[in-house]
Amino acid sequence: MIDFSMYDQKEPKIEAYKCLKCGAIYYPAPMVCSSCDTRRDPVTGKGWETFDLEGPCTLLSWTRLWNLPEGYSKKNMLFGIVEFENGLRASGQLEVDDPKTGMALHSTVVESDERPGDPVNVFVFTQ
Ligand SMILES: [Zn+2]
Repeated sequence: MIDFSMYDQKEPKIEAYKCLKCGAIYYPAPMVCSSCDTRRDPVTGKGWETFDLEGPCTLLSWTRLWNLPEGYSKKNMLFGIVEFENGLRASGQLEVDDPKTGMALHSTVVESDERPGDPVNVFVFTQ
């Protein structure tokens, strides 16, 4: 018997970072905490912890991109910048018909293989 459960696809996540000394949170991760100057070791991550960045967020700004890099199959894409409830901001794909600044969105993470090269995890914002 082969146990296939270990091959189950894990849901893709994008991690934000928290400085354990002062509690400041960041995304993306800085090399040095701007609140308390704690350095982050990019290999061990010592002194920092990570958490999944996801859930409710607010649309701060958005744009429609027409000149997509080679490898995309769509004509255009919407990109948005959102703010999460914890104050962190992130950019990603916006999948709403009629985007409006300030609208409430929900963030998920998908593994995108739309562009050439290895798949990457990207944020997708939906209503
Ligand atoms: Zn800090």
